Amino acid sequence: MPGDGAETDVIVVGAGPTGLSLAIEFGLRGVRAVIVERHARTGSQPRAKTTNVRSMQHLRRWGIASALRAAAPLPYDYPTDIVFATRLFGRTLAVIENAFEGAKRRDPRFPEPAQWVPQYTVEAILRERVATLPSVELRFNTELENAEQSADAVTATVHNLANGERRAVRAKYLIGADGARSRVREIAGARMQGEHAYGLNYNLILRVPELLRAPPSRRAIMYWLINKEAPAVMGPMDTDGRWHFGITLPPGISEIDDDTIRARVRAAVGRDIEIEILARDIWAAHRLIADRYSNGRIFLAGDACHLHPPFGGYGMNLGIADGVDLGWKLAAMLEGWGGRDLLDSCEQERRSVHQRTIAEAVENYRTLSAQLLKDSLDDDTAEGDRARSEVGEEIVRTKTREFKTLGVVLGSRYLDSPIIVGDGSAPPDEHYAAFEPSAHPGCLAPHAWLPDGSSLYDHFGSGYTLLGFDEPTSKDELVQAARRARVPLTVLNFCDQELRALYGAQLVLIRPDQYVAWRGDRAEDPDAVIAAVRGAPVREAVAKKKSSTA
Ligand SMILES: Cc1cc2nc3c(=O)[nH]c(=O)nc-3n(C[C@H](O)[C@H](O)[C@H](O)COP(=O)(O)OP(=O)(O)OC[C@H]3O[C@@H](n4cnc5c(N)ncnc54)[C@H](O)[C@@H]3O)c2cc1C
Repeated sequence: MPGDGAETDVIVVGAGPTGLSLAIEFGLRGVRAVIVERHARTGSQPRAKTTNVRSMQHLRRWGIASALRAAAPLPYDYPTDIVFATRLFGRTLAVIENAFEGAKRRDPRFPEPAQWVPQYTVEAILRERVATLPSVELRFNTELENAEQSADAVTATVHNLANGERRAVRAKYLIGADGARSRVREIAGARMQGEHAYGLNYNLILRVPELLRAPPSRRAIMYWLINKEAPAVMGPMDTDGRWHFGITLPPGISEIDDDTIRARVRAAVGRDIEIEILARDIWAAHRLIADRYSNGRIFLAGDACHLHPPFGGYGMNLGIADGVDLGWKLAAMLEGWGGRDLLDSCEQERRSVHQRTIAEAVENYRTLSAQLLKDSLDDDTAEGDRARSEVGEEIVRTKTREFKTLGVVLGSRYLDSPIIVGDGSAPPDEHYAAFEPSAHPGCLAPHAWLPDGSSLYDHFGSGYTLLGFDEPTSKDELVQAARRARVPLTVLNFCDQELRALYGAQLVLIRPDQYVAWRGDRAEDPDAVIAAVRGAPVREAVAKKKSSTA
């Protein structure tokens, strides 16, 4: 830890998935960052279990996608199906296959399928990556207490919880990746707006040896169990008999005793089985978003600025994406090529994605196991058959949205951003499941597999990437404009009609986070394009051009 008055570029508070993603983005660019985390950050609660296809793209870019897959506890080919049944050993009502696009197959739309893996494993892999990056310091048992900012710096007071020492650390920026009860949010004067704790839930980690010996006949990552006695969701955590088991608590109840838990698990499983309770966790469903994401040199990311029910597997993944967004933009400022308005674009771009995702998660939370319940579901009668078929249809109608999320995960875009240059075309319609790849400016750059088997994304640079098709005319002018503005640029040229059609223009400028910033058959004013995408006023760019040619 730097001592009194110590200097670093950025202080990140919190080493959850958001803070670790920031750390990697900084570390890969050589930005000096100190990450302070008050806890040891170990635990057995999985929390997030879905690392979605977008996060997996980032992990691939960071060189750790394969490490995460190797560390995932369930076998590689384990199906990411969701089974809805009356009980674990009861009657099947519906099955949603390939949830979150987790099937291990090559898909033209993305380079990496989703991975079902506990959050603590994801964090362990991220931490290992951070440890390889010399410009980043990760400090556990260290709490941020306070911070003050001036026009050109932030000074934070951090408390070493191991030895009781308090130190001042001075940085150019401070980021609160410090979760739901964010201290940085308070310091920044931001407030959460929306609905607090509108549902209480109980999560348990159980060891169930019998399920190891005699598992359910159909393998699935989640079993939604719909019955009167114990509506619940459960799923395997590992191949060692560990399962997660979640129930929603009735209003006014915030604790349940072990005997009640045992009875509930038996009812949900439909067998008289022995269980060992390994861990328990109560969590509340919120629908909240911060009224501001920054104040001067202080920024918020992840759960510190948005909270929603964990249905649809969005929270950790949004935090990772926030870390990527803020990471490359702050690095651009520190490297000196970020324009005056670049940091303002963080909130402008991310807020609309957060709002859309929160609305999805809230919609998913509306229909839980208990709401799908109908009389006679367990009966061996014609009425029972009818009830099961009706509930099966209801499940497909209401729950598909929670598990078929590609339109949200890859289809969320930055349309009203000040650093995206529109081209007058219309973006594809938004849909929660359907994802239509498009190089409309503001959309995620369409993915493609190249003839040598590599992913197009593997060739993008860590700065901007200029894709050119068939040696386009104004490519060199754009390259020179980027050089004048000191914008890092990787140039790729393809003679591939299919790829050209996918991108819809001769030239496409792609951001460090793989979003399309600009496209066109030629750049009429290359300096203005480069100025716009790096958040600089266009007048400033023209002045720079004049002075460099004078
Ligand atoms: C039951 C459940 C299931 C979930 N399932 C999913 C899922 O399937 N998919 C998904 O994407 N998400 C899921 N989530 C959400 C996910 O767990 C969170 O969105 C994610 O952990 C947020 O990451 P974060 O880094 O922003 O914050 P956190 O993980 O909360 O990390 C913040 C860190 O900051 C530290 N900190 C706080 N204050 C200070 C301070 N003053 N000084 C130093 N350190 C500090 C904390 O100790 C903490 O380690 C789930 C959540 C729950 C509760």
